[in-house]
Amino acid sequence: MPDAVIGLEIHLAVRTRSKMFCSCDATGFGDAPNQHVCPVCMGLAGALPVANREAIDRTLRFALALDCTVPQRTQFHRKHYVYPDAPKNYQISQYDQPLGEHGALALPGGRRIGITRVHLEEDAGRLVHPPYADHSLLDLNRAGAPLMEMVTEPDLRTPEEARAFLAEVRAVARAVGASDASPEEGKMRADVNVSLRRPDGSFGTKVEVKNVNSFRSVEAALHHEIQRQTRLLEDGFEVVQETRGWNEGGQKTVPQRSKEAAADYRYMPDPDLPAIDLPVAHVDALRAAMPELPAAKRARYAALGLEPDAAAQFAADVHASAVFDATCAAFDGPPTTVANWLASEVAGRLRARETTLEAVAPDPAAFAARLADLLALVHDRTISATAGKEILDAVLDGADPARVVDERGLARVADEGALRALVETVMAEHPDVVASAKVEPKAVNALLGRVMKASGGAADAQVVRRLLEAALADDA
Ligand SMILES: [Zn+2]
Repeated sequence: MPDAVIGLEIHLAVRTRSKMFCSCDATGFGDAPNQHVCPVCMGLAGALPVANREAIDRTLRFALALDCTVPQRTQFHRKHYVYPDAPKNYQISQYDQPLGEHGALALPGGRRIGITRVHLEEDAGRLVHPPYADHSLLDLNRAGAPLMEMVTEPDLRTPEEARAFLAEVRAVARAVGASDASPEEGKMRADVNVSLRRPDGSFGTKVEVKNVNSFRSVEAALHHEIQRQTRLLEDGFEVVQETRGWNEGGQKTVPQRSKEAAADYRYMPDPDLPAIDLPVAHVDALRAAMPELPAAKRARYAALGLEPDAAAQFAADVHASAVFDATCAAFDGPPTTVANWLASEVAGRLRARETTLEAVAPDPAAFAARLADLLALVHDRTISATAGKEILDAVLDGADPARVVDERGLARVADEGALRALVETVMAEHPDVVASAKVEPKAVNALLGRVMKASGGAADAQVVRRLLEAALADDA
């Protein structure tokens, strides 16, 4: 396979309540069409935009997390083009004074990928094409919502790297609260460009694949495009510079339009929006308030002894890592125990309930306190691990573990007198099992299981085994 040169252009919906230049709700994309519109985002004549400070600050935080240089002054430009989903026939975007430039983000393996720029712009509306109709419909709920665009240097080399990079971008955007970065909700979309390096080392012709809407599709589109270009070159054809689309059903890229020349968008400073000063003190304050980023979190979790997969999983999820950190702080046992319970027992129950940790534990500290209590009960052998798993559901529902243990009588019974009585009862009830246990020592497990069940999982299994073995030996 020849050397591929890959760059990404990623759009992320900024997490704000209102739109970029008006006070319309920016969270109701999915509501009935055109519920969240006003003269500004409908592009009516005479309407005046006002920049959303919150969107600027969140984009600045994202740019700073990507190690970008932030200017002391920024400006919005008009980018002119005509398309039905852009009501003003121009988009308010940024041109030569973006909010961030010359950054970098390291892949989990450590290789740094250059970030050319991060800028802020407004999103477009949405065209709806009703089936069998001779017209299209326009929904402007999303028009004017704040959108960050980040462009990478052509530093990525493989489709797998591109996918890993997108996952890291998502983790960073969520960590700093800049974006929900959820491709499934259309809040993260990528254009990918790829060329093959010529044998002399120079870059080949670049092909762009627009609007790829999932990480898996980005990887698949790049694989397909690299294969397609390789075959063309091997057969003696040239790669044409063009924009292609990703056909999900056919798992292939398809031509959209060939690029005549760089489009002339006639960028001009938006006369309705004055330039914005970004005082050094303000940017420093944003930098000082920066939360721990995913890479630092992964390193910290690895140092606690977590497996790389678990460390990556918690570090990529702001809520899960808050729960993990708070539980570790409250639990006087190994962090790996916390990680195992969260990643297997808790995650399994959430999957079964088709819900999320965020929904079950909206307050991470409160949930962490209950989970830590439960783990402590197991850790100090007040209850068995089996009993601990049994009451986890109640703990997820908000119950206090110690109270559930009392109510259900789950405290581990290690008292030999009580257990001996139980052992004798079970042995009397199952003479056949007792008989086979006398010839086949492994059959003692069958008796052990019955005693554990009779105790509701509360019996101390080690004590029961010892009592059973002694009773069988006496009997023999
Ligand atoms: Zn509006």
